[in-house]
Amino acid sequence: MPAQQAQPQLVDRFGRTVSYIRLSVTDRCDLRCVYCMPEKMTFVPRTQLLTLEEMEQIGRAFIRLGVDKIRITGGEPLVRRNILQLFENLGEVDGLRDLTLTTNATQLRKYARPLKDAGVTRINVSLDTLRPERFREMTRIGDLAKTLDGIDAALECDFDKIKLNAVVLKNYNHDEIVDLVEYCIGRGLDISFIEEMPLGQNDHHDRAVSYYSSDQILEDLEQRYELVPTTYKTGGPTRYFQLIEHENTRVGFISPHSHNFCESCNRVRLTAEGRLLLCLGQEHSMDLRHVVRANPGDDVVLEQAIIDSMQIKPKGHDFNLNSAEVLLRHMNLTGG
Ligand code: SAM
Ligand code: SF4
Repeated sequence: MPAQQAQPQLVDRFGRTVSYIRLSVTDRCDLRCVYCMPEKMTFVPRTQLLTLEEMEQIGRAFIRLGVDKIRITGGEPLVRRNILQLFENLGEVDGLRDLTLTTNATQLRKYARPLKDAGVTRINVSLDTLRPERFREMTRIGDLAKTLDGIDAALECDFDKIKLNAVVLKNYNHDEIVDLVEYCIGRGLDISFIEEMPLGQNDHHDRAVSYYSSDQILEDLEQRYELVPTTYKTGGPTRYFQLIEHENTRVGFISPHSHNFCESCNRVRLTAEGRLLLCLGQEHSMDLRHVVRANPGDDVVLEQAIIDSMQIKPKGHDFNLNSAEVLLRHMNLTGG
């Protein structure tokens, strides 16, 4: 991936440059995390999903327009058939600096090496608990041993960085914050703690009751570790702290409620159906599936549609734990 930087052309009405896209390559998943989707999830009919070729075409258009970071997410990206092909093809495009993946790790034993060979630089793995029964409860169907084995497989492949993402829910896993950090220290991983976002109806738990703030997590960690804020950035909304005595582990916080991250937003998301979402917490979007299917092979029209979409990128989201209004999109469709 030679880094020949294209001239950035994606600037929104508030002067923010978009340099990062998250591609959700499927809404399907082999787990059912309680904060992400209901137990009986209705998935989008397959004909409505973008093909891998359409995703690649859109990804390439974004790179030509100055995007230099692509994160492949879902749903669980590694359950999409032939997904390796997309990684391999995007991994070859000039101008792409960072090709990353968010995964639940269940398939990493099989995919870690080919992903590394395809040019994947960094991997985020979602893991909220190290206790098998609790893991089963929080994912409804998962087997912790498989996820841990997937992480081990990735560790064998020498990625630039592997990071854990942990959603913290009060009375579910808030007592495991230090255990998760210890697991990361032992393996040289980073970790981000995430406040739950109100995406999709949730009958499993009351989000206001299970809210556990980043500030609270930091306070818990300060009982045990010395942490200093850093300016380290990976292109996302995470605020990082360095553990003073463990130089290979950073602790990050993704805090949509307590520390709004909209001002510096540099990213957009493409849903598995080809809807370009300009903000995680708003419905402003552009139907890129329609654009590519109505104008087969026409990259000029596609690029113009992407440039035009910058005009509807909202100033920010408006997540509110006590509001009755909840976005109807679940995270698996949005692409976390
Ligand atoms: N299946 C992959 C995984 O779990 O890593 C990728 C997709 S998943 C939707 C991406 C990230 O979104 C995960 O780290 C997950 O923990 C997070 N997530 C899902 N639902 C969420 C919610 N309601 N609030 C905050 N984070 C959420
Ligand atoms: Fe699947 Fe990821 Fe959602 Fe969990 S968070 S249900 S692993 S898409």
